[in-house]
Amino acid sequence: MATVLDIAKRNPNAAPVAVSDAARAAGFIEKTAELSVAAGAAPGGASLVGLTRDQLKDSLSAIGVPERELKMRVAQLWHWIYFRGAKDFAEMTNMGKELRAKLAAAYTLARPQVVSEQVSKDGTRKWLIRMASTGPLDKGAEIECVYIPETDRGTLCVSSQVGCTLTCSFCHTGTQRLVRNLTSAEIVAQLIVARDAIGDWPDAVPPEGAFVPNDGGRFVSNIVFMGMGEPLYNTDNVVAAIDVMSDGEGLSLSRRRITVSTSGVVPQMERLGTEANTMLAISLHAVRDELRDELVPINRKYDIQQLLDACRAYPGLSNARRITFEYVMLKGVNDSDADARKLVQLLKGIPAKINLIPFNPWPGSKYECSDWERIERFSEIVYRAGYASPVRTPRGRDILAACGQLKSETEKLRARARMMAEQGIGAEGVYAVRDGE
Ligand code: SAH
Ligand code: SF4
Repeated sequence: MATVLDIAKRNPNAAPVAVSDAARAAGFIEKTAELSVAAGAAPGGASLVGLTRDQLKDSLSAIGVPERELKMRVAQLWHWIYFRGAKDFAEMTNMGKELRAKLAAAYTLARPQVVSEQVSKDGTRKWLIRMASTGPLDKGAEIECVYIPETDRGTLCVSSQVGCTLTCSFCHTGTQRLVRNLTSAEIVAQLIVARDAIGDWPDAVPPEGAFVPNDGGRFVSNIVFMGMGEPLYNTDNVVAAIDVMSDGEGLSLSRRRITVSTSGVVPQMERLGTEANTMLAISLHAVRDELRDELVPINRKYDIQQLLDACRAYPGLSNARRITFEYVMLKGVNDSDADARKLVQLLKGIPAKINLIPFNPWPGSKYECSDWERIERFSEIVYRAGYASPVRTPRGRDILAACGQLKSETEKLRARARMMAEQGIGAEGVYAVRDGE
């Protein structure tokens, strides 16, 4: 069936694309988006927040800071922006007044706008974040970002794209029409926004009554790329963002506490391992190609065999650095004993953890979550084969902050949230992810 791809906006930075619902109905692997945000491109507006060292250097050069001073000035800015969380150039007292004035005249330290914050009874927080406009036609892309606190860790679930070009049949994000890559700065900015909101800077304090880890560590100690989008369709920006997030002189997150989840973009996996050196999670969800072709259509490009070969070759893989295999439990679809046995057989020889995810329904989805007894039985088979198989604990139930439910069409989401709450369906919430111990 022919599909009309209706280019909504031709903005060289934003370039979102609308795809007809017919495309999805016809079972297309992916929508074609014009993902033309250059790697490492500075975001719209002139905020320095989220920029890489090279981008900061260029920004300083552009206002006439002499070449010989650049390295030192970048180091100073880096410390203020990423170590202290400065919001005003006036705070940067180790820089001359004149330079501070020049910086303030040309740039800002603005964060993307927090459109709304929802706090669950269990302490999970979900922010709807509006990115700066990238051009006259762009009102600012909206994405969601979720914070999941536990006593000994705080996990931030970040988005890598606005929407997703892929069309996994059980995922709400896959139905979103507008798609564009986030810049590296926009990815980093999600961490900055979270740290602002929970008071995770030196001298800052968490909001009254906030649930944050109490083990003396950082309030955001772990990052998972499990929000909107396929990170390995935006590898350049994801790798650049991880470099900023893990820089020891700034945000300082351990790469072993950063997990990138992919639906299986095989050609990019080795690069992720070599350049970002993070933990890897694979959205497997099916053990037979025929079924995976339907659930995770990118399987038609890279099948299970190719995917598992790429896993075996993942740089740095060892028993201490296992790959997490995500498996969403769909009633009567992929949850039989035979599926469980085939799963452990397939993963033989790969240092792996298996994460069973109860399916989060959304209005219009054609699947149901497996019954609890079925999930337990499945988990038991996996456990007996020697794999830890935690079933993700539902988090943020009451604020609709669920895996695969993130979708930034705000109004629609709000309307749906209301509808789902009224009907008492869905809303299982984001799941606490135990990773990168
Ligand atoms: N695009 C990437 C990362 C984002 S999705 C990927 O697919 O891996 C994060 C995880 O949530 C994936 O494992 C995804 O398959 C899962 N997911 C998507 N929709 C879901 C739903 N409705 N219920 C439960 N998990 C879902
Ligand atoms: Fe995209 Fe991941 Fe959702 Fe598939 S599961 S549509 S890859 S976000």
